[in-house]
Amino acid sequence: MGQLALSGVKKRFNKFEVIHGIDLDIRDGEFVVFVGPSGCGKSTLLRMICGLEEITEGECTIDGQRVNDLPPVKRGIAMVFQSYALYPHMSVFENIAFPLRVERLPEAEIKDRVMRAARVLQLESRLQQKPGNLSGGQRQRVAIGRAIVREPSIFLFDEPLSNLDAALRAEMRIELTALHQKLKATMIYVTHDQVEAMTMADRIVVLDGGNISQVGAPLELYHKPDNLFVAGFIGNPRMNFIPGTCTAVGPEGATVHLVTGGTITVPVEAPLGLRGTQITLGIRPEHLSQTSGDVSIEVVPTVVERLGVNTVAYAELEHVGTVSALLPGASEVAPEVPATLSFVAADCHLFDAEGTALPR
Ligand code: ATP
Repeated sequence: MGQLALSGVKKRFNKFEVIHGIDLDIRDGEFVVFVGPSGCGKSTLLRMICGLEEITEGECTIDGQRVNDLPPVKRGIAMVFQSYALYPHMSVFENIAFPLRVERLPEAEIKDRVMRAARVLQLESRLQQKPGNLSGGQRQRVAIGRAIVREPSIFLFDEPLSNLDAALRAEMRIELTALHQKLKATMIYVTHDQVEAMTMADRIVVLDGGNISQVGAPLELYHKPDNLFVAGFIGNPRMNFIPGTCTAVGPEGATVHLVTGGTITVPVEAPLGLRGTQITLGIRPEHLSQTSGDVSIEVVPTVVERLGVNTVAYAELEHVGTVSALLPGASEVAPEVPATLSFVAADCHLFDAEGTALPR
């Protein structure tokens, strides 16, 4: 079992509150990813869950039992950090066995558990080596092995892949997803990397300044962000935001006059009071195209990145800032050459003056 619930969880360092009352239910076996900008409280939340940091206010329960006052080792949780924290003088076997030795388990059981973990992580042939002889990815697997042998019901990962290069990160991402499927344990994973969040998570928790901004399945956050913050955070390159004024509201949606020129009616449920207010239209870079659409913007790209499978063009627009377009294949856009980018109403998101998304 590995069901975890946070209710009204707050954290204050001295008088300074950094976590403002988190409510979250995590199901047994779920893979939940915490994302958010630097300083939003991801690590603090993780450290409160595992007991390395005291919970100032509120409650953390695991399988229905309040754990606020339980020491880390009694919570049935194992944590894997970004720094692998392996002992360089010990073999891989002894590094993995370490927490079991601390628990003074019988030798036969230690051997059995280490061998099982090594099999899952494909480290069997490395057990007698020292960490210094391993690659970064193998070292991280040893650190994960040390968590696995404790047979926790909940795994916590704090940016475990951020010391690895891009290729190895991609490889380890797939390995961790496979590991989750094998172990069926609850996993809570903190990352800056939204590709990790999108690909590994059953649900993503987006944190902003010590509050939850939105919780949902990756594609739910991509397609239906609740607010400007989540819309700008999920998706790469980030969503373009074009300010405008709502000029009409009707059964077909809200009509917006954009600062870039042009008018578009977006199919959202808009209250009558929206008329005359300043609103923001959100359009993802992948929804801008060089074919015709419901409305267009004129740009002069400053930078064009050709990635083979697609091309990303960046331009600066007055009152908007940087606009990016993700165009298919080897698009003919070029720096300093004017281009027309169009989009359709069905792909647009609208946000009111408070930054709240208008429902579709
Ligand atoms: P990052 O992605 O940069 O690791 P994070 O989202 O994990 O950031 P935290 O490390 O949880 O953020 O920090 C949240 C806030 O709490 C920050 O404002 C940080 O300065 C503050 N903070 C964290 N630990 C302490 C501490 N021991 N004493 C005082 N303030 C702290």
